[in-house]
Amino acid sequence: MNKMYLILLGAPGSGKGTQSKLIVEKYPFIQISTGDILREEISNKSSLGVEAKKFMDNGQLVPDELIIKILKEKLLNTQKHIILDGFPRNLSQAKALDDMMSEIGGSISSVINISVEDSVLEERLSGRLVCKGCGASYHKEFLIPKKKGICDKCGADLYQRSDDSPESIKQRLIVYHQSTKPLIDFYDAKDLLSNVDGGKEVNEIFESITSIIDGRI
Ligand code: AMP
Repeated sequence: MNKMYLILLGAPGSGKGTQSKLIVEKYPFIQISTGDILREEISNKSSLGVEAKKFMDNGQLVPDELIIKILKEKLLNTQKHIILDGFPRNLSQAKALDDMMSEIGGSISSVINISVEDSVLEERLSGRLVCKGCGASYHKEFLIPKKKGICDKCGADLYQRSDDSPESIKQRLIVYHQSTKPLIDFYDAKDLLSNVDGGKEVNEIFESITSIIDGRI
């Protein structure tokens, strides 16, 4: 079987990270999350991290040249099937990804768009808690960890992302509508798009996603 490249599209808070983790548990994929890579660079205080943080805290996209370079390195160094979580975020990144695919002789297998209403996204993001260890997501009201501030899955501390502030959330949703949402039509025109209702329960969404993946494997 050819190497699969699966794109998860969706607004911040739509559940791309949560669903990626479930996919990785069930299928031989690895998750490439550009947001996670950038947060790691920030915690390592690398020059890339310092540069990226300015954009991230303001809810803006990190410049394309930086992110495309990072992604290219990751794509070239990975043998497994890949889930792209958080890339592409705009049309120029999508075109750069097409170019990378031509270069490496690969092709995008499927694009899954997880759609959720803005009011729900705001509610999810403003109460979100994330595990420092495994990246699992919780919520202050809707998905409370068993022990306050501690991840049920791995026991590491939970934290609130600095870009999950009210101002930054607003800005990220604006950027999503302006820059990322047009990718739905871009991939639909290529006949690669499937839509799932991201307002449902995590497991129900995952069932829809597994039936899409099973149809492609
Ligand atoms: P995420 O974890 O996917 O919500 O991403 C967090 C932040 O990282 C975004 O708000 C952007 O500032 C930055 N980021 C992540 N992926 C990209 C990307 N593909 N292009 C530009 N910026 C990105």
